[in-house]
Amino acid sequence: MAPTDSALPDSVPSAAPTIAVDEVVETVSALIRFDTSNTGELATTKGEADCAHWVQERLEEVGYEAVYVESGAPRRGNVFATLPGADRSRGRLLVHGHLDVVPAEPGDWSVHPFSGAVEDGYVWGRGAVDMKDMCGIMLALARQLKSSGTVPPRDIVFAFLADEEAGGTYGSHWLVEHRPDLFEGVTEAVGEVGGFSLTVDAPGGGKKRLYLIESAEKSLAWMRLTAKARAGHGSFLHDDNAVTILAEAVARLGRHRFPLVLTESVTEFLRALNEESTFDIDPDQPDLATALGKIGGLARIVGATLRDTANPTMLKAGYKANVIPQTAEAVVDCRVLPGRQEAFEREVDELIGPDVTREWVTKLEPYETTFDGDLVDAMNAAILAYDADGRTVPYMLSGGTDAKAFAKLGIRCFGFAPLQLPEDLDFAALFHGVDERVPVDALVFGTNVFEHFLMHS
Ligand SMILES: [Zn+2]
Repeated sequence: MAPTDSALPDSVPSAAPTIAVDEVVETVSALIRFDTSNTGELATTKGEADCAHWVQERLEEVGYEAVYVESGAPRRGNVFATLPGADRSRGRLLVHGHLDVVPAEPGDWSVHPFSGAVEDGYVWGRGAVDMKDMCGIMLALARQLKSSGTVPPRDIVFAFLADEEAGGTYGSHWLVEHRPDLFEGVTEAVGEVGGFSLTVDAPGGGKKRLYLIESAEKSLAWMRLTAKARAGHGSFLHDDNAVTILAEAVARLGRHRFPLVLTESVTEFLRALNEESTFDIDPDQPDLATALGKIGGLARIVGATLRDTANPTMLKAGYKANVIPQTAEAVVDCRVLPGRQEAFEREVDELIGPDVTREWVTKLEPYETTFDGDLVDAMNAAILAYDADGRTVPYMLSGGTDAKAFAKLGIRCFGFAPLQLPEDLDFAALFHGVDERVPVDALVFGTNVFEHFLMHS
């Protein structure tokens, strides 16, 4: 469904400057109304192009020369626009968001997932937090800065991207490989998933808001396991069965607990949590998971950054009940900490044993950057400008984002899409969840913070 306000005049800068905080809610709502569901299949993923063209129109309307690029397949639409900065010799800042979303089943929702309804103080719909919220903030601010003639300290490259939800093969990774020119001069980048608040009980009473900035990501590595043995009749004695061999290996791997390894980002996050909250977390204690449980849904993300994980997700074997197949296969979703790949593979090999072979179906490297420097200072100052009692802390994301693609170009990446959230909102559960929604107040906060950040980065 196309938004009602898509018929706008072409390429005519507005007479009066646009104001981002006035536009952001309607912009996020309009973006949600484009069904950009990414099914993972080229044939059924279609909405990105319409959405990208709409973004392009909105950028050109205020005077940008916006570039529309398809990334490896028809209708996989991406849009790039650059706002020139005062010092053009400085490294450019990439601000990126993905326009695709995961599919949604309307019957499960309170409102239609592609309605973009604004009700009860929230904007509702698929993509509201992942990540048409930030795309809306980016677009509203890009328009405001351009139409008001504002010059940021350095060049800002706004990128609205396709295919993040299927790993970026037809999005960021394709663009990095085939169109590196689009990222020329870019030294740093911000995108999802970070900048949101987590409210904790402060040690001296009262509450403290921590703003989690993503400074690291685990790897994303999908592994196929294969067992090959003797085929035969299901009624005979048969102790060399591929299904049994594979099942045992999968069970051992799935139940295995990899060692606790605290990287710098995780250590800093836990230290901040100890300082600012009533939690008393000793990273060496085995009840760390219980302590983390107190931070609600977020514990599922943070808990997964304490060690490598290997979750079996797919099984395939056999074609008839009375035929023992020659081959059995499984897919395991592995997420490995920075610096752990070799040790992880050794452990996996011991667990699966000599009769099962393994290969990587997909392997995207982890990354981690230090939480310091001018860009971190700019994020920190922007948050403090609108929440004087807040504190920014680094954290590691257990999943992957487009940052993995940009890191391949040597770009230093952070997750910073600022939102001040109600204390009781289970933010983590909204990602890919039913009734995904974002508070209107959080969008206004995010827009103000992000403007401050862009003007001081
Ligand atoms: Zn996302």
